[in-house]
Amino acid sequence: MTAAPQDFAAFHRRSIEDRDGFWGEQAQLIDWHQPYTQVCDTSRPPFANWFVGGQTNLCHNALDRHLKDRPDQAALIFVSTETDTEKTYSYRELHAEVQRFAAIYQSLGVVKGDRVLIYMPMIPEAAFAMLAAVRIGAIHSVVFGGFASHSLASRIDDASPKVVVSADAGMRGGKVVPYKHLLDEAITLAGNKPARVVMVNRGLADFARVDGRDVDYAKLRAQHLDAQVPVTWVASDHPSYILYTSGTTGKPKGVQRDTGGYTVALAASMPHIFMGEPGETYFSTSDIGWVVGHSYIIYGPLIGGMATIMYEGLPIRPDAGIWWSLVEKYKVTVMFSAPTAVRVLKKQDPAFLKKYDLSSLKALFLAGEPLDEPTAQWISDSLGVPIIDNYWQTETGWPLMAICNGVERAPSKFGSPGKAVYGYDVQLIDENTGQPITEPDRKGVVAINGPLPPGCLQTVWGDDARFVSTYWTSIPGQQMYSTFDWGVRDKDGYFYILGRTDDVINVAGHRLGTREIEESISSHPAIAEVAVVGVADQLKGQVAMAFAVVKDAARVADPADALKLEGEVMKVVDDQLGAVARPARVRFVTVLPKTRSGKVLRRAIQAVCEGRDAGDLTTMEDPAALAQIKDLVRPA
Ligand code: ATP
Ligand code: MG
Repeated sequence: MTAAPQDFAAFHRRSIEDRDGFWGEQAQLIDWHQPYTQVCDTSRPPFANWFVGGQTNLCHNALDRHLKDRPDQAALIFVSTETDTEKTYSYRELHAEVQRFAAIYQSLGVVKGDRVLIYMPMIPEAAFAMLAAVRIGAIHSVVFGGFASHSLASRIDDASPKVVVSADAGMRGGKVVPYKHLLDEAITLAGNKPARVVMVNRGLADFARVDGRDVDYAKLRAQHLDAQVPVTWVASDHPSYILYTSGTTGKPKGVQRDTGGYTVALAASMPHIFMGEPGETYFSTSDIGWVVGHSYIIYGPLIGGMATIMYEGLPIRPDAGIWWSLVEKYKVTVMFSAPTAVRVLKKQDPAFLKKYDLSSLKALFLAGEPLDEPTAQWISDSLGVPIIDNYWQTETGWPLMAICNGVERAPSKFGSPGKAVYGYDVQLIDENTGQPITEPDRKGVVAINGPLPPGCLQTVWGDDARFVSTYWTSIPGQQMYSTFDWGVRDKDGYFYILGRTDDVINVAGHRLGTREIEESISSHPAIAEVAVVGVADQLKGQVAMAFAVVKDAARVADPADALKLEGEVMKVVDDQLGAVARPARVRFVTVLPKTRSGKVLRRAIQAVCEGRDAGDLTTMEDPAALAQIKDLVRPA
């Protein structure tokens, strides 16, 4: 499946200029039950319908298709450092488990088009539940297991699932995190109540059972051990799942994914972007509750005939070498993680990263938030493997900026997620005129000319009008998809993401991206991570306010030392960006407020600094982080 060396520029150009020819070829990478008659129907912009008339199935392409050539090869490798479990499922075994789960769904009355909500820790049953749903044409909605009842209730209401799949508990850092009472509360809060709840009992936490509603997974599984559930062939545009965005900038949006376009997009990304070959091992450290988990823990690697590692645990437990020991043990060739995890490792002894044989690893892919240059350099030096920053969104389902080394080898530039990926007609738009920016190094809004390529969101679940008004109306004068991120492009076509369009601050008439200031502060060797927000100021309109985490907390234990470091950091910004960008204060905290997916909640920090209500915080990881900032900025 390795792509022959080609010219990436020509490859990209063809994907836009000969869109149907290009994607028609990529569509050969998957199995079709019924061939499509039209590659892309764009008759109702901005909606795009890919592979019209075709019928396929996501689960078939992830599992059944491989039974002939690789039945005994590892498909799913489950590793939990929380429960000290390691278990490998071959393609044949995974196929059997998924059929059992599909039979359970059927016994509970789930039919094609029904929604199934999965509220689960990172355990194999979660993967079975996802694959089994799409096998029978049901639509899954995975809700991150760390969410509490309020967030869960709103997602239950939005998807109105017939069945919920859950577990007694997750585990984090050695502590049991019970789930069931949160689920029960959420169902009480929700208007649309599921008929049945399938409970996977890990024996970690006691829970109450609701008669007539709750059923036991192990018991039902035992009744369906020999289940054979053929796949339900669905139209290419049949929804495969609903997944909510991270909620960094406000109320999460229910992204609706199709079946055929998504399967093709993932299949194509394996060789072109990830250089992943059948038979190799893929390790994504994400969670099934996020888009990276959907595309690159479950579906992408399996579609590509790879083994995929599903990891329950922290990156630094039992020690910071754990991930790298798995790379050595399972000869991982492709690894995917997030900058937030790298920043966690940065605070640990780098010796752990050098302890293991990483020679199998082709590259480490990082996505989810800006990867600042110093952090990229640090992880690159520590691991000695290529680092590939890639930029995408829950909405796109797969990377829209990256270096496509499977098409043509090209160097990474640290700080940049690379070039526009094939299939994406990315434009930088002048926010005032709506005109594309063609000259290098000028800032604009990152936008995409429709139609969006296969795999991207079809619509917002249940709300076509919100899809159009949210994404397609903000660019003046034309109907283009806005990512709501700022970017610049250099003369070689490499993009740099400067932050979200609502993260720009205006100091005395100068518009500054918070990302630029953060990048500058991060280059100070004492700083592990930092968030910069704009805070209303009577004199200057706005001033920049920085909250930084130091690598070694002892450095700021003494107030005089903290003040000294604050001065040093300000000097760095002065030198690199000029005094106008210098933060009014640099405060030191032990942790930054983040979403559950590890993104810094700048809007919440800003609200707290301005004495406003912090808004919807349901997706926040650690409320104590925001409390720390509140204490610091509270008027004395
Ligand atoms: P919401 O849309 O609900 O506010 P969110 O945008 O954080 O939440 P996601 O879809 O998880 O939800 O995140 C996508 C965003 O993450 C991108 O729009 C961008 O701001 C940021 N991002 C992702 N990858 C990168 C990257 N490699 N470099 C810079 N930013 C990135
Ligand atoms: Mg977003």
